[in-house]
Amino acid sequence: MTDPVLAARCPAKVNLALRVVDRRKDGYHELDTVFQAIDLWDRLEVRPHPGKELVMTCDDPAVPTDERNLVLRAAVRLRGSRSETLPGASFHLSKAIPAQGGLGGGSSDAAGALLLCCRFWGVEVSLERLQDLGSSLGADVPFFLTGGTARGRGRGDLIESLPFVGKMGILLGLPPFGISTEEVFEGVRTKLTLPQNGVNLPTFCERKWPGDNDFSFVANDLERIVFGSWPELRRFRDHLLAEGAGAAVMSGSGSTVYGIFREQQNLDQVAGRLKDRFPGWRLLPTRAIEDKAHVV
Ligand code: C5P
Repeated sequence: MTDPVLAARCPAKVNLALRVVDRRKDGYHELDTVFQAIDLWDRLEVRPHPGKELVMTCDDPAVPTDERNLVLRAAVRLRGSRSETLPGASFHLSKAIPAQGGLGGGSSDAAGALLLCCRFWGVEVSLERLQDLGSSLGADVPFFLTGGTARGRGRGDLIESLPFVGKMGILLGLPPFGISTEEVFEGVRTKLTLPQNGVNLPTFCERKWPGDNDFSFVANDLERIVFGSWPELRRFRDHLLAEGAGAAVMSGSGSTVYGIFREQQNLDQVAGRLKDRFPGWRLLPTRAIEDKAHVV
């Protein structure tokens, strides 16, 4: 292949808090969540492609490279929203963010694809319009256009930036299986008792933020569904706490469970100890960052 013309970096996220507020008539759930971007990145490159076709390759054979992939769907959606004729493009995606882990990899790639296509085709699109296009692709996509620390309401797609949570180490634990978001939310529909009076995330957003080592807001309502089926995840969370994590919780709909540690703490050592107890798990030391998906 020739040198890439342009590339985007697409970070992963964790949910510091995820509360399920209500069921919606459109099949989705009303959420109140706090996203945090983390230092784990996919890379998306684009080159000219003859004709009008949009194509892609990926270094991970498990990732579909047809129209199911959010990169191609983002490019198609953006081109379809324009009146001018825009040429073909060939994408290559290098994956570092594990799939089905609750880390937002596909959504971040979609946000990166929107930004990359704007630059590649030389079209100006407002952030608001990109957020709209992004939210039509997936509820997590708009977050990756603002990044850092942010609150998400509605389906998780109505984004409000928050002050950066601050430097902290984050140790990700990925079990040897992924979990389908659809199936977890199906469990919410049938099994989860929702709080009567909504959820009071403003308490931590307005009074306790940025927290100053107070992690009492860290919680994920989806754990009740997921830990019921996969008790190994709960056991991993308890080990993170025993290793000195300030908080430990599942990200999104799983399967990742992560711990928050002080910046100075040596996460490689903690990971080494946990690896012996949890064979087959991947342990990825990372950290909170202020970045978003961006063209490089
Ligand atoms: O928007 P996204 O494609 O990421 O959502 C995947 C699935 O997760 C949806 O089809 C829906 O079943 C569920 N979901 C939900 N409520 C949300 C977000 C996702 O029920 N706020």
